[in-house]
Amino acid sequence: MRVLVVEDEARLADALRRGLQEEGFAVDLAATGPHGLELARHGGYDAMILDVMLPGLSGYRVVRQLRAEENWLPVLILSAKDGEYDQADGLDCGADDYLTKPFSYVVLLARLRALLRRGAPQRPAVLTVGVLSLDPARRKVTRADTEIALTAREYALLEYLMRHAGEVVSKIELLDHVWDASVDTAPNAVEVYVGYLRRKIGRERLETVRGAGYRLRA
Ligand code: CA
Repeated sequence: MRVLVVEDEARLADALRRGLQEEGFAVDLAATGPHGLELARHGGYDAMILDVMLPGLSGYRVVRQLRAEENWLPVLILSAKDGEYDQADGLDCGADDYLTKPFSYVVLLARLRALLRRGAPQRPAVLTVGVLSLDPARRKVTRADTEIALTAREYALLEYLMRHAGEVVSKIELLDHVWDASVDTAPNAVEVYVGYLRRKIGRERLETVRGAGYRLRA
């Protein structure tokens, strides 16, 4: 089993390499985001251990880029707990597992073995509702096979509606799930974004259910 370790702290990288080699893994090291990405692209790895804060390109960007290229190399993200990111970001970007620094080497090894047993993950399921299709891995939306450009908020709104297609979804629910509760949101934000979305996906697909909310036709 060959493992790629992308970590810019030389001592940690070295300790990981030695530890993993003692367990019988073949290990390659990269100390920057771009170098890690380049090595991962060449294939030949069974898993990658990836730090988040890296010179050149963050670990999250590295995973996103790989997934955008349909590279499903199993990725275990390493991050400092007090960083600006959290676990959700790690998994959201397409990583398979996440470990917070400082971590126990024994736990790292167990997680790595679990990843290797699972093998390359299935590509995340593409959501389909009628002629609309949304690929969470690539954040790509198509309508009758034509790609639609959505802003991040429109995308999040559509993803939520597609996951609840055929159901009535209230404005409160949308505010909760699509808007960041810590940010002041204009009271009519949902209406405004529903309007934007309708223009892009087809007005008839997204119904207003008077007094209750919205329903994406299944
Ligand atoms: Ca780092």
